[in-house]
Amino acid sequence: MKIEKLHQLYSERLLIDTDTRKIRKNSLFFALKGDNFNGNKFAKEALTKGAAFAIIDEEEYLEGSNTILVENVLGTLQKLANYHRKQLKTPIIALTGSNGKTTTKELINAVLSTTYKTSATVGNFNNHIGVPLTLLAMTKETEICIVEMGANHQKEIELLCSIAEPNFGYITNFGKAHLEGFGSFEGVIKGKSELYDFLRKTKGKAFINEDDETQLKQAEGIEQIYFNNKTIKFISANPLVSVEFENTIIESQLIGKYNYKNISVAIAIGAYFNIPVATIKTAIENYVPKNNRSQIIQNKNNKIVLDAYNANPSSMQAALENFSQLKDEHKIVILGDMFELGVSSKTEHQKIAELATSFNFNEVYLIGKAFSTTSVKNAFIFENFENFKSSVNFKSNINRTVLIKGSRGMALERTLDLF
Ligand code: ATP
Ligand code: MG
Repeated sequence: MKIEKLHQLYSERLLIDTDTRKIRKNSLFFALKGDNFNGNKFAKEALTKGAAFAIIDEEEYLEGSNTILVENVLGTLQKLANYHRKQLKTPIIALTGSNGKTTTKELINAVLSTTYKTSATVGNFNNHIGVPLTLLAMTKETEICIVEMGANHQKEIELLCSIAEPNFGYITNFGKAHLEGFGSFEGVIKGKSELYDFLRKTKGKAFINEDDETQLKQAEGIEQIYFNNKTIKFISANPLVSVEFENTIIESQLIGKYNYKNISVAIAIGAYFNIPVATIKTAIENYVPKNNRSQIIQNKNNKIVLDAYNANPSSMQAALENFSQLKDEHKIVILGDMFELGVSSKTEHQKIAELATSFNFNEVYLIGKAFSTTSVKNAFIFENFENFKSSVNFKSNINRTVLIKGSRGMALERTLDLF
C-alpha cells in the first residue's frame, strides 16, 4: 500500500495502537516485533477487539481486507510519521543529550504551552517507535512540537532526525552514558552530534549554551541561537534552583545545579518564541518533576532527595557534588549500580565510590553487583537491595538528609519505605 493511502486511513482515525491489550475502537494496529514477541501473531486479536486495520509484515497472518501487508511494519510506521510531519509543516524542536532530555522537554513544553498549542513526547518515549508516535500525535492545530530523542549507539539520532526532520535542536549535555553502545566518550559526542549534522545539512537552527565549549565546537556552521550565564544568571541551588532573566528572579521547584542548564534553555526558547518573561516565570515556577526524577520528599524526620529514575557517571557526579553543597547536618548517600557501562563499568563505579566517600557524608551506602566490586574506605557496600534492606535501620529520630540515586533497574525508590 502506498504511504499516501495509509496516511489517509490514519487521518480519518488519528489512532495508532501497538499493544493488543489496549486496543482503541477504529484504530490502526501496527504489528511491531520485539525481542520476545511478534506483533503479527496478534493482528487477528487486534481486529476482533475493534481495530479498523492491522498492518503486518508476515503473509501467513493475512486476515482478509482489513490486514495490510507491508514489507516492514516498523519501517512503515516511521515512513508514515515522516509523511505526516511533512504534510503538517509544524516547527519541530528536537532534544537529545546524555542527561536531562525529559526534564528539559517538559520545561520547554511548560513554557511554550502557555502561548502555543504544543505537542510533545509523552514521558520518555524517545526511541525509534516513540519518535514516530510522537510525530503522529501532531494535529493540524499543533503549532510547535517538542521531540525527545534518545540514543545508545551511533546513527540512531541520524535515523530519528530523518524521520522527524527537526527545524530546531538542542543537546542537553555530552556525558558518560551508554558507553557500552557508543564505545567511548568521544563516541557519545559524535553520536549526539548527529542532531547538529542534520541541522547543518538542512539549514536548521541550534540553541546553544555559550558556556559549553563542546556544544560551540560541535555546532560550528549551523545558525545558532545563544544563551549564556550572563543572559540567564544562576542565582542558587539551595537546594531548589533559582535563576535571573531580564531582571526577574525565577524560582524553580527543581533540585540539582545541573537543572540550571535545563531551565536556561527553556527560558531561551520561550524568549525566542516571543513569550513574555512573566509568563515564562510562572510556567517554570509551576513545573514539578514526575517519575522519581529529582524530587524532594519530606517526612517526619527526613528530607529525601529522590533521584532514583536513572543514573550514569555524569549524572551521579553532578548529583553528589550538588548534594555536598547542602548545609544540612546529617547527610546520607544511598547509591545503586549504573547500568549499561560495558567495559568501563568497574572503573566508573570505582570513581563514583571514591567521589562519594570523599565528601565526609555521615554515611555512604553502595548497592549492587557493580558497586560490590569497588574498594573504598568508609562506605557500606551491599551486593543487592535485599541485603541492604535487611541490614539498615533508618527509623530512629535523627533528622537526616538523604540522596537516593541509581539506574532504573535498581528501582531505588523502594528505599523510601525504609524511612
Ligand atoms: P533518559 O535517558 O532516561 O531519557 P533523560 O536524558 O531524559 O534520561 P532526565 O530524565 O531528564 O534525563 O533526567 C535524568 C537524570 O539526569 C536526572 O534525575 C539528573 O540526575 C540528571 N540530569 C538532568 N539534567 C542534567 C544535565 N543537564 N546534566 C547532567 N545531568 C543531568
Ligand atoms: Mg528521557
